Amino acid sequence: MTLADLPSHHRPGGGFRNPWVSQAVPGFGSLLKWMLVHRTTRPRPKDPDPSVFTRVRPAFVRPRAPASRLTVTWVGHASLLIQLGGTNILTDPMWSERASPAQVAGPRRWVAPGIAFEDLPPLDIVLQSHNHYDHLDDHTVRRLAQRHRQATWVLPLGLAAFVRKRGVPAGAAVELDWWQDRTVGSVRVAATPAMHFSSRGIGDRGDTLWCGFALGTEGGGPPRVFFAGDTGFHPDFGAIGRRYGPFDLALLPIGAYEPRWFMRYLHMNPEEAVEAFRALNARAMVPIHWGTFKLTDEAMDEPPVRARAAWLAAGLPSDAYRQLAHGETLTL
Ligand code: ZN
Ligand code: ZN
Repeated sequence: MTLADLPSHHRPGGGFRNPWVSQAVPGFGSLLKWMLVHRTTRPRPKDPDPSVFTRVRPAFVRPRAPASRLTVTWVGHASLLIQLGGTNILTDPMWSERASPAQVAGPRRWVAPGIAFEDLPPLDIVLQSHNHYDHLDDHTVRRLAQRHRQATWVLPLGLAAFVRKRGVPAGAAVELDWWQDRTVGSVRVAATPAMHFSSRGIGDRGDTLWCGFALGTEGGGPPRVFFAGDTGFHPDFGAIGRRYGPFDLALLPIGAYEPRWFMRYLHMNPEEAVEAFRALNARAMVPIHWGTFKLTDEAMDEPPVRARAAWLAAGLPSDAYRQLAHGETLTL
């Protein structure tokens, strides 16, 4: 590949970047400004008591749902169990107590995982959107590699080594670039663009790619599901919908958005999530990435209130906004 052929989200020297905005990812200086100035000089909204978040007993089908049935269970944050085309799919698996490099510090879980780890059905596919600690968890990867050896992991470019190092068989880790797809059993998985970044330590920003996933069945017919991963609002949701939609269900992040001057490049706010939904050509939306880890400055219970208001303000049918409690299963 010559430099001229390089996709615009590939950095010429290796690694990845966002193609849409010139200065998409705020640098370390902005992080310091947020942590040391903004947070200490501005009042922050009060969080509710964690008990406001209820946990519901899941109702997915064991061991697998019939091919005609779609179920989605919210484990919490960006972790979901999706039963599609008779296949069990897990997204961004995170079962640890803290979303952090060390289990002694960092954002602590507000609600226990909606499915106990031992209660997971046999997994066929694990989807990993990027390498942030609230999505890619060292301990959870090791446990899955041991207990669900038959699972195929689908990851964005550069991330396979991480899971292989933790016990996933080499042949079971598949890397995709944006707009590439792979069929695993009866499910076609496509990696889609997202406006975000990757990093787990110092000096590794952008070394591995980030993405969302479009899921469909092998024949290309319904049902189809879109999982956005972590993303700011970008201009390509319409293109994703045209290429891989229409979607029966869009799983869209609505939390971790304040302050906007910093977070808008990384995470959509609830209003933008509804705008993304409209661009995607989807029938219903499940809000994710809220109510589980406190990452940013908005109150923990604000995202779903704002998302529902934006949904109704846009004139969308109220029964197509499918907010789930932790552990709750949606069956279509
Ligand atoms: Zn992230
Ligand atoms: Zn996240």
